[in-house]
Amino acid sequence: MDRIAQRMFGLGTETAFEVLARAKGLEARGRDIIHLEIGEPDFDTPANVVDAGVKALREGWTHYGPSAGQMIAREAIAENFSAERGVQVGPENVVITPGAKPILFYSVLALVNPGDEVIYPDPGFPIYESVISFFGAKPVPLPLREDRQFTFDLADLEARVTDRTRMVIVNSPHNPCGSMLSRGMLEQIAELAERRDFWVLADEIYSRITYEEPHESITQFPGMLDRTIVVDGFSKTYAMTGWRLGYGIVPRDVEPHISRLMTNSNSCTASFTQVAGIEALRGPQDDVDAMVAEFRRRRDRMVEGLNAIEGISCVKPKGAFYVFPNVKELGLRSVELQDRLLEEAGVASLAGTSFGPEGEGYLRFSYANSLENIEKALGLIGNLLQKV
Ligand code: PLP
Repeated sequence: MDRIAQRMFGLGTETAFEVLARAKGLEARGRDIIHLEIGEPDFDTPANVVDAGVKALREGWTHYGPSAGQMIAREAIAENFSAERGVQVGPENVVITPGAKPILFYSVLALVNPGDEVIYPDPGFPIYESVISFFGAKPVPLPLREDRQFTFDLADLEARVTDRTRMVIVNSPHNPCGSMLSRGMLEQIAELAERRDFWVLADEIYSRITYEEPHESITQFPGMLDRTIVVDGFSKTYAMTGWRLGYGIVPRDVEPHISRLMTNSNSCTASFTQVAGIEALRGPQDDVDAMVAEFRRRRDRMVEGLNAIEGISCVKPKGAFYVFPNVKELGLRSVELQDRLLEEAGVASLAGTSFGPEGEGYLRFSYANSLENIEKALGLIGNLLQKV
């Protein structure tokens, strides 16, 4: 008997978790490691949000709730989304899930048929390609270009759209490159979506972590709310990765299907975390502002420090908390460099190829670590590269 179902062999993963495990293994053997591989804020959840969660537990928000989420939390999310994006949505457009990731999974499951094509950014969040393939659709990578500040060429997108294109995934601010799509580009993507009739999955999980210009949502363009699934959540903005609280903004006719997937898989998202989420959205935003200001300082130091190392050049990212330096001049494969940095220099990073073949020749560093550690890491990277 084959113990494992055949479909499991088509399911990918996130190498970030593997590198983290290797780094932890080295630490267990006494090595000092600076963690620049992890995609989560190093800040604590704001105290007012923690207090609201504890209060909610004591008040008895410990039971099952509706699959789409508690109505009061859906209302708070709809209100927040409408105010931030300038697009009117109601609670019936909101489905709350344990983290943002399930929305990616459910959207492809609910909207894409086997054999359909889905266009996604390369390099990009590895879960996109993984779920597209898992559900029998054809993943169609869209290369991001360093000379376009890691956005794509619209002609490249248009050339990939066929009669089988069912969905296009965009992610802005972008993991792993920190790039952002301008209003003008989004408008053209929206126009193409209307003309060629496809779904847009807009992963806006980093929408609050921007430095140069405000985030723009594709939902602002006419007709787009009706053909877009927005992925967002609390993990990054409110440093709540472990609470597992995310949501999708979806068209009304899609909501029952995503909710039914929730009923079949999770039943519902933990009730007390949703109540804490309301406080996150409606309470003071000072902690978010302070975190973003600190990320900006680290980004600036990281970009400056990396560009000062021979053989590395680094575009200044506009959002999220990652840099994606070009290391092609060093003449090593990205994975080799990732391994040598970890084992010889004690700096954990991710090879650009963890995010797709177009990531060859790049590394991803997360600057969700203290300025002091970033400074140390820059020194260690510089020393190692002198030997390469
Ligand atoms: N989308 C992107 C681009 C991400 O980087 C992440 C997390 O790393 C997620 C979605 C998932 O977020 P969550 O932890 O809320 O599931």
